Amino acid sequence: MSPVALAIHGGCGVMAKLDLGEHEWIAARHVLAQSLRTGWTILSSGGSALDAVEASVVVLEDSPHFNAGYGAALTTAGTHELDASIMDGATLAAGGVTGVRRIRNPVRAARVLLEQQDAVLLSGEAADRFAERAGLNIVEPSYFTTERRLRALAAMKAHETAGTVAKASEAEKHGTVGAVALDEAGNLAAATSTGGFNNKPIGRIGDSPIVGAGTYARNGICAVSGTGKGEYFIRHVVGHEVASRMAYLGESLAAATNKVIHHDLAVRGAGAGLVAVGTDGSIAAPYNTPGMFRGWVTPQGALYVGSHEEVFQVN
Ligand code: ASP
Repeated sequence: MSPVALAIHGGCGVMAKLDLGEHEWIAARHVLAQSLRTGWTILSSGGSALDAVEASVVVLEDSPHFNAGYGAALTTAGTHELDASIMDGATLAAGGVTGVRRIRNPVRAARVLLEQQDAVLLSGEAADRFAERAGLNIVEPSYFTTERRLRALAAMKAHETAGTVAKASEAEKHGTVGAVALDEAGNLAAATSTGGFNNKPIGRIGDSPIVGAGTYARNGICAVSGTGKGEYFIRHVVGHEVASRMAYLGESLAAATNKVIHHDLAVRGAGAGLVAVGTDGSIAAPYNTPGMFRGWVTPQGALYVGSHEEVFQVN
């Protein structure tokens, strides 16, 4: 029987510690713990990695603390265009949706697509209709909008006018949620969901729905879910790059993920982070920004969550 493992992230677009009150940090960590417990309950009762990552991501999509689902980032027009994907490391089956506006939990639509295997990626209105036909929960686009994201959009537009976009904080810019897991049968899976970045152009597609970039899972190697400026994740094919370094160079999960985050993306000035799990149950959660919402469960079932350097045990 394989060891089981689970790691999640809530994006590397984390605010400076002093920008939020202590109770808000505690509330965000509480949701991370809830997401871990949800996935871990599935894994520890013999469930699949695929079910675990989907369930963990749904909890994060439903929370306003993270940029996915409820509380997602806004486009230049003040609208939402959500991206998500999920991948099964056992079969390399995958599903992704992009630019969706009415699916409450985009990762669920990605999962249905994965199961049906007619297409890997569906976009926009067609994807919304696909989810509706599949019986998923459909909401008004305004459901996703929160005060915090409206403020972040206004801040980005002010930066644009003042020519100071480069000075915007990571929190003003972006965020994402994701999960990676290894189940008892030795199967790996990864899932990612996002609103993209604040003030993004209409129609822009990030890395999160793109297999090999923001999401990747392959049995015997690793599962990866990324967060950060998606354009760089696509150009560096980050998920697949981590897996390739491990497969072809024999690097450890830690070495491969550190190289990509702390070297390849860091030298480009790309704020980035990821969570990854190896086929031996090892976990990596590197980031090169001031913080990244993240959490994992040890093989003994101990839960850890954090946003900045400090990590809290939350059992
Ligand atoms: N990767 C996401 C995107 O580019 C944003 C993020 O993770 O911060 O859409």
